[in-house]
Amino acid sequence: MTTSPTAIPPDQPDQPGEPDRPDARDREPVVAMTGITVTFPGVKALDGVDLRLFPGEVHALMGENGAGKSTLIKALTGVYAVDAGTIVVDGTARTFAGPAQAQAAGISTVYQEVNLCDNLSVAENVMLGHEVRRAGLVDFRGTRRAAREHLRALNLDIDPASTLSSHSLAVQQLVAICRAMVVDARVLILDEPTSSLDVDEVERLFAVVRDLRGRGVAILFVSHFLEQVYAISDRMTVLRNGTLVGEYRTADLPRVELVQKMIGRSLEVLEQLEEAPKRVAAERGVQPYVQALGLGRKGSIEPFDLDVYPGEVVGLAGLLGSGRTELARLLYGADRSDVGELRVEGQPTRLRTPRAALARRIVYSSESRKTEGIIGDLTVRENIVLGLQAERGWLRRIPQRKADEVVAQYVEQLGIRPADPDAIAGNLSGGNQQKVLLARWLATQPRLLLLDEPTRGIDVGAKAEIQRLVAELAEQGMAVVFISAELEEVLRLSHRIAVMRDRRKIGELVNGDDVTTDDVVDLIASGGQDA
Ligand code: ADP
Ligand code: MG
Repeated sequence: MTTSPTAIPPDQPDQPGEPDRPDARDREPVVAMTGITVTFPGVKALDGVDLRLFPGEVHALMGENGAGKSTLIKALTGVYAVDAGTIVVDGTARTFAGPAQAQAAGISTVYQEVNLCDNLSVAENVMLGHEVRRAGLVDFRGTRRAAREHLRALNLDIDPASTLSSHSLAVQQLVAICRAMVVDARVLILDEPTSSLDVDEVERLFAVVRDLRGRGVAILFVSHFLEQVYAISDRMTVLRNGTLVGEYRTADLPRVELVQKMIGRSLEVLEQLEEAPKRVAAERGVQPYVQALGLGRKGSIEPFDLDVYPGEVVGLAGLLGSGRTELARLLYGADRSDVGELRVEGQPTRLRTPRAALARRIVYSSESRKTEGIIGDLTVRENIVLGLQAERGWLRRIPQRKADEVVAQYVEQLGIRPADPDAIAGNLSGGNQQKVLLARWLATQPRLLLLDEPTRGIDVGAKAEIQRLVAELAEQGMAVVFISAELEEVLRLSHRIAVMRDRRKIGELVNGDDVTTDDVVDLIASGGQDA
């Protein structure tokens, strides 16, 4: 299933995107963005995207990480200039110079990181910039009274005199929303407001959101949590890779279809790969190399069980943001668990740092090879040797001969091109950079290899080579955890597939000929419960 970049609601036969709520039907959109294109050096973050917001609706902006959601919001509020496209607010074409201008036009944004002053009172935060003044001076009592009224208008029972920092993040979010409403926002943008809230706090937030909707405010809501999106939104716009997939009524779009639209399928790429034999039931060792027992971390990932045996590839499937990377981070000591137990070769183990994991022969190859991985200014040799160096500690020199040997071995084995250890890594293609990164970690002779999106954004040839390498490593007895957004790839390589959603492991599938991507998508969409 592919969509052309600017395809507008492709598969909604009936009046695409007409708001669901009857009272909003005849209205004009309060915001209409058309053909929005935003480029950053080397990245087209948005390519001809449309978005319409109607008064009195909650509109979910959906898409995996990097799809362009935040960029679209920033294009609307004037944080980023657009390269093409128009923004019409209340029927008039507008270009905002920044968020302040957008706010003056009635468009307020509450970001994920609360953008308030910790040490000031709730009242001061709500009224910041709009203090009640008398004879030019701030009237503190008047300001506090006004703040109380604004809080009451949202049914928020928060003491205006209390210090902001004395409240939970959830309450701070509500204060931020209240502050946004002081200026009578007609459009309220919430970019992942619920990421760190618990269930009750989300309910409290939603009560406020519903109330604002009832008063005719258009709310643009970004969240990774499908459950919440279905609970609160009337319509949604789905983005993928900076392009518009479509605009839908929430009630008309089953979850499975939403997930498919968000993930997309790059079938044409996959068809070019040889049809690798599906890997069925591994001949695995007797004891898992690692075993997670109720391992979890508050605010990051809920407690999960996971075994990874030597010689086995365990795939992690789930939407971006579903907790796959967070799970991996607990397995290599980048984050510390606060509940549960991790066993390495049967031994209860606490991994406090990636270095400790390395000592237990557990390595992680990062998703973002540009920012956390490859150092572009260093040579291929230097990049590979970094792994050995990390293993030994930074102060112990690695003998030149040993380094040369290891580097030559992996350049050869992984087919790194150019096959020149002195080439500057930053000049290599993405696929070859990924191989250099793999070489770095393989040089430490890991027993468990955690691969986070190792084939993302690389060409088809390199992708096939990396897939083949992963299969080979497992055959030689390495335990591998393989994270990829491409379900086809996960299914091709994995013996077992752990499925993640909303920062929770919701199930596990044993791979086999009868297992298809649809099975995984169904599991993601149903959340592990029978839908
Ligand atoms: P989302 O909010 O959907 O996760 P973003 O809008 O943050 O996605 O990012 C869309 C794309 O644009 C990504 O590829 C991201 O790396 C890129 N991007 C976002 N902001 C910038 C920036 N300031 N400079 C360069 N690239 C950026
Ligand atoms: Mg974002």
